[in-house]
Order: sequence, then structure tokens, then C-alpha cells
Amino acid sequence: KEFAEVSIKDIDQVAKSSFPLCMRHLFEKLREDHHLKHGGRMQLGLFLKGVGLKLDDALAFWKAEFSQKVGAERFDKEYAYSIRHNYGREGKRTDYTPYSCQKIISSTPGVGDHHGCPYRHFSEENLRAALSRMGVNSGEMENVMDKVRNRHYQLACTLTFESIHGSSYDAGINHPNQYFSDSQKFFKS
Ligand code: SF4
Repeated sequence: KEFAEVSIKDIDQVAKSSFPLCMRHLFEKLREDHHLKHGGRMQLGLFLKGVGLKLDDALAFWKAEFSQKVGAERFDKEYAYSIRHNYGREGKRTDYTPYSCQKIISSTPGVGDHHGCPYRHFSEENLRAALSRMGVNSGEMENVMDKVRNRHYQLACTLTFESIHGSSYDAGINHPNQYFSDSQKFFKS
């Protein structure tokens, strides 16, 4: 196995330290609204599967949030299936893989959606606020915004990684789960 399993009790801490901005945003919105629309559930759900959240933990995690909004019964009826489906336990039993940056960047979030890549889909103001919450300082922020203006979203994300970890990152980000596992390696080394 490439990295350790993540359990529910660690998830808030690792979200803060090691989720890329796209997943931090979905995670925070889910905690805040106790709900995510389909695109967000897919993007975050498959990412969490990729970080090693087991099916039972995933069901408990989503249920704890959605129950506060739609009730436990409706969660079991309408939402649990698609989580099991993501883990290949329903339907064609395909083991779905987490989305790459390319797929996320080319998605088209609508009103009320929180999926997508913030470097591409956030307004400049919201992106600056989110980066500053992540701990990117103002000098580094300008370098990130410069990449965004040139539509180099993955390079912008790579610069964010470097800024937060205080270390160069030559590989470049091309997958949210790569961001996560390399961040965890960094903190554990
Ligand atoms: Fe997420 Fe990739 Fe965008 Fe970074 S570049 S925020 S990992 S989609």
C-alpha cells in the first residue's frame, strides 16, 4: 500500500494539512451545509476513497453530515447507494478511480455546485481569500495568481503546495491524490 488508511477521527486534521484546495473546499462546504450536490459528492467521495477511507467509514462520514440536512432515512434511501457504487459494491461493480486534475479542471460547475478546480473556477477575490486561509503569504500569492492568469492551474496548485510545505516540489501536481500522498509523506518524514 502506498500510504496508510485514513480513519474518520483523523479526517479533519488531514483535510487541513494535506488536502489540495479543491478538496478542502468541498470538505468545508460539506461540514458547513451538511450537503453537496452530485458533482461534489463524486469528486470528494472518490478522492476520499483514494486517500484510504474504507467503505464503512465513508458511509458513516457522509451519513453524519447528510442526516443533519435530509434525515438518516432519506440518506439511506437516496444517497448510500451511490457511495457503495463508488466503491464498486453496486451496479456494474466497477471500481471507480478518483478524478485527475485534468478532469476536475475541465468540469463545469453550475450554481450551487462546489466541485471543480478553485484555481480555474473561483473568482479572483475568493481564490485569494482561500489561499490566505491555507497560509500562502502575500509574495507567494502573487506568483500563484500569475500562473492562474496564464491558465496554468496545476502550476498554481504546485506553487501552493511549495508555499505550504516550505519545500520545492519538482514533480508538479497532476492528481489531487498525488498532492495528498506527497503532503503526508512530507509531514511524516
Ligand atoms: Fe485540485 Fe488539481 Fe486543481 Fe490542485 S490543480 S486544486 S489538485 S484539481
